[in-house]
Amino acid sequence: MSEPVIQQTQSTLPVAELKGVGPRTAEHLARLNIVTVQDLLFHLPLRYQDRTRVLPIGSLRPGDEGVIEGIIELTEIKFARRRMLLSRISDGTGAIYLRFFHFSNSQKANLQRGKRIRCFGEVRRGGVGLEIAHPEYQLLNDDATVPVSETLTPVYPVTEGLHQRGLLGLMHQALEFLRTDKLTLDELVPAEVFNKSDVPTLKESILFIHQPPPDTDIEKLINGSHIMYQRLIFEELLAHYLSLRRLRTQMHRHKAPVLNSDELSRLYVQKLPFSLTSAQSKVAEQIKKDVQQGIPMQRLIQGDVGSGKTVVAVIAALMAVEQGYQAAIMAPTEILAEQHFRNIEHWLQALNINVAWLSGKLKAAVRRNTMAEIVSGKAQVIVGTHALFQDDVEFNNLAMVIIDEQHRFGVHQRLALREKGKMKDQFPHQLIMTATPIPRTLSMAAYADLDCSVIDELPPGRKPVETVVIPESRRNDVVQRVHQACIEHKQVYWVCTLIEESEVLQCQAAEETASVLQEALPDVHIGLVHGRMKSEQKEKAMQAFKQGEIDLLVATTVIEVGVDVPNASLMIIENAERLGLSQLHQLRGRVGRGDQASACVLMYRGNLSDNARIRLGVMRDTNDGFEIARKDLELRGPGEVLGTRQTGLLQLKVADLQRDQALLPRVAEVADVLLNKQASSVKAIIARWKGEAVRYGQV
Ligand code: ADP
Ligand code: MG
Repeated sequence: MSEPVIQQTQSTLPVAELKGVGPRTAEHLARLNIVTVQDLLFHLPLRYQDRTRVLPIGSLRPGDEGVIEGIIELTEIKFARRRMLLSRISDGTGAIYLRFFHFSNSQKANLQRGKRIRCFGEVRRGGVGLEIAHPEYQLLNDDATVPVSETLTPVYPVTEGLHQRGLLGLMHQALEFLRTDKLTLDELVPAEVFNKSDVPTLKESILFIHQPPPDTDIEKLINGSHIMYQRLIFEELLAHYLSLRRLRTQMHRHKAPVLNSDELSRLYVQKLPFSLTSAQSKVAEQIKKDVQQGIPMQRLIQGDVGSGKTVVAVIAALMAVEQGYQAAIMAPTEILAEQHFRNIEHWLQALNINVAWLSGKLKAAVRRNTMAEIVSGKAQVIVGTHALFQDDVEFNNLAMVIIDEQHRFGVHQRLALREKGKMKDQFPHQLIMTATPIPRTLSMAAYADLDCSVIDELPPGRKPVETVVIPESRRNDVVQRVHQACIEHKQVYWVCTLIEESEVLQCQAAEETASVLQEALPDVHIGLVHGRMKSEQKEKAMQAFKQGEIDLLVATTVIEVGVDVPNASLMIIENAERLGLSQLHQLRGRVGRGDQASACVLMYRGNLSDNARIRLGVMRDTNDGFEIARKDLELRGPGEVLGTRQTGLLQLKVADLQRDQALLPRVAEVADVLLNKQASSVKAIIARWKGEAVRYGQV
């Protein structure tokens, strides 16, 4: 009698345990973030094919994808523009062509008239009727009945060197491991989370999703509403959220300078020609509290265009300066950074604080000088573009990093910036400001590693910008309107955007528009700014506009963010139909900053697409940045809006932050419980869903 073999079950096995996985395949798999068999099981299908039944040829429509079977009626080589092989097959209900552009002689010989063939592919309309280009096919012997697939066929993300078929084979083995408990998937999410009793186990979900039975509603699988997917979606959101929370906890283990005196910032606020809005005060207080703790502040401020974020940034900077540290303020464009520099220098001169300016376009000698001031600590506040964070810039003692208008950043960038300011064992505080607000639930998931504040109030006296949508054909009316405004001593922006993405063409268009307008309106002072002008020229034009020497500023989208000229009260945007909502909102935010009523004219060319019509309609109907952001998310999805698609962290496999928003509050709740009580589960859940990125310690 032999002892019963007790097989040990495991939750991770290296992929090399699978038959056919040698070093090369292992390498390919690693490129897909698959190192263990468990990783493979979490490599989830992009979509499905139905190969479970043979479709009658007569029932096919263009766009259908499926298995057909029939007798070859004819195979011939054709020359129509290029050489190709064409076979006609028929099953009695209809006929269809198979078209091959690449083929061998033996292939041609095999596709012999009278033979029985089974194919799979996508049906499309061809020159002579329906056809399938390059189908997968197999010849059948008359008598043999080859079974069709028993389950829907998943289609996986693949990589070079590892194709669908190979991956499918490996997946079969992995699923067998799971089915026979050679590999186990621990239930890491507490069962009571799912308050319904019919919620499947993780094992059931995984088995199902890789091999759904033939009668499964594919639509439901794809849109995530299938219960088997719901189980996974919840867990993936949880993993995502936990990984960000863990990042936050790790950050909190670091030290940061204690900044606990606010004399200087009080003095600054006293000297401002206005008093802070209560929203500004509230956020300033949050910041002051953060920076006293001795751990790095990681705060995100969302505040609509014109809500006065700059003042708050300066308050944060002064908290550092007061204790003898440096603060850096980074803006995404040269124009905005330069404008910040001017404002901030002006404000801080009165307090005897040294403000430095650093951009990529400084002359070598000036740059050397500035760098010397930065490294010596003479420069107390440094304003600039991303040039601030180039390798050769060395700070003396940076305690505060402020990133303005950075609505497109990912976790990795945040981490890189943090590293830049590291002093021995201390990290600088970080303040990130954005005018692209996102709904609370979403920001909770996307920015769970940050503390979020909202400036939800505009300075008093602001009036909404009245917005009209006008076709290009009424350009003359628009020009007259501009003229009238200039006569009334109002200032006007004319924004040229171009159909082509080329900056050169955009700048040319602006130059041309400026000269055409000048001809039409000889009594108006017209200025021009675009991205290909020298910094000094740009700055000169901006200053002249600010000082009222220019009535009409023709500009490209370089003025998109941050530019602040309160007397400007009319904006014309050309080709508005080409711009996204957040860009339009940013642009329009340049007017409506003073106390007079402002207007924005959105000009469009040609027929509007449905989507463009919706966008322009939204702009006409509301000035509320949150509402606009919500619509933008609806139209484009969070990957685009947050610009985080490439950063890896928001790369979700089955979940969709927008679609699955309703789950987020519950996800956060469960995460908090796990973080407090079950550190080991937290680790395992993150590893299961985030794979390599986590193991290599990036997140
Ligand atoms: P944003 O949040 O878009 O960066 P800014 O910081 O550029 O806004 O501020 C917009 C304008 O409002 C500036 O001219 C600024 O001086 C002014 N401002 C800021 N705070 C107040 C306030 N509390 N009261 C009145 N005006 C303010
Ligand atoms: Mg700003």
